[in-house]
Amino acid sequence: MSEITSPNATRDTVILGSGCAGLTAAIYAARANLKPLVLEGHEPGGQLSITTLVENFPGWPEGVQGPELIENMKQQAIRFGAELKMAHLVSVDLGKHPYELNLGPGKDPIRTRTLVIASGASARWLGLPSEQALIGHGVSSCATCDGFFASGKQIAVIGGGDSAMEEALFLTRFATKVTLINRSERFRASRIMLDRAIAHPAIQFLSSTVVEEVLGVEDKEVRGLKLRDTISGERSELPVSFLFLGIGHVPNAKMFHGQLDLDPDGYILTHGNVFPSHNGQPVPGVFACGDIQDRRYRQAVTAAGTGCMAALEVEKFLEEHGR
Ligand code: NDP
Repeated sequence: MSEITSPNATRDTVILGSGCAGLTAAIYAARANLKPLVLEGHEPGGQLSITTLVENFPGWPEGVQGPELIENMKQQAIRFGAELKMAHLVSVDLGKHPYELNLGPGKDPIRTRTLVIASGASARWLGLPSEQALIGHGVSSCATCDGFFASGKQIAVIGGGDSAMEEALFLTRFATKVTLINRSERFRASRIMLDRAIAHPAIQFLSSTVVEEVLGVEDKEVRGLKLRDTISGERSELPVSFLFLGIGHVPNAKMFHGQLDLDPDGYILTHGNVFPSHNGQPVPGVFACGDIQDRRYRQAVTAAGTGCMAALEVEKFLEEHGR
């Protein structure tokens, strides 16, 4: 179907993002001979590429390492003719079809008849100036990437969901003591993950506690945390030398503000699973899948599911428009 003869030709489909949703869309679109181009984005491979064991992806009774799962998907997409490019979308005017994707200064724009938005979500930060100043100097949002640097140290993990539990458990391989700090009284994590963390002797819990400041900015290394108990109002200091954030994610949909309908947290609102809208009206040839449009399930398997749906809708759209 696709006739990409020169770099300036209009493509049938471009997929934004190379996580589970984007790569599944790429597999389906490639098998439909649409020669999809995948723009890998700021975080190639998405969240699976920085996770450890994935135990709930069907078909892997013993679990599978996230990076291995994503690499397999990539190879599967390439095998059927998908093209992957290390680039990300800077801007696009969704009011003008075919869409012209601006990839930044000095880079040729790409024209496409359909666009699959699978740009996912990125780690959320507390937003404290001291936290931001110490990123890379003892503050991290990726336990798998930076856990090793916590070897032999007392550390803290912020969050009360499954991500925080997973990070805390993983970090016990390196750290001597892990303090898990949750701003709420109740933990949002699933029972099984919470129980595993509670049972671990190296993990200590602090709930109803917020971090007011990360100490150590002058020394360019984390020295501790200034904490406040949200019930008693009491302030204290916790000496730790590494801080990991496990407080969820924010959707990567900034470039669609004003062009697509988003929910108050910035997730793309979709109808019939993968159809975005603008002022309630359909946007021709644009589909969204994965975490960018899913604040409820956020699972690898649901991302794959909507990635598949988006690619099938791409095929349908192109057929209906005479391709
Ligand atoms: P969640 O949204 O479930 O939890 C986020 C946590 O961060 C909450 O405890 C929340 O507190 C806290 N938080 C949010 N913002 C702040 C802030 N500014 N300051 C302090 N604390 C904050 O996100 P997760 O990433 O943990 O999980 C997302 C999804 O992924 C879930 O469905 C989860 O089940 C799944 N998952 C599954 C895993 C597995 O099965 N192995 C592993 C990891 C994730 P509060 O409750 O007060 O809002």
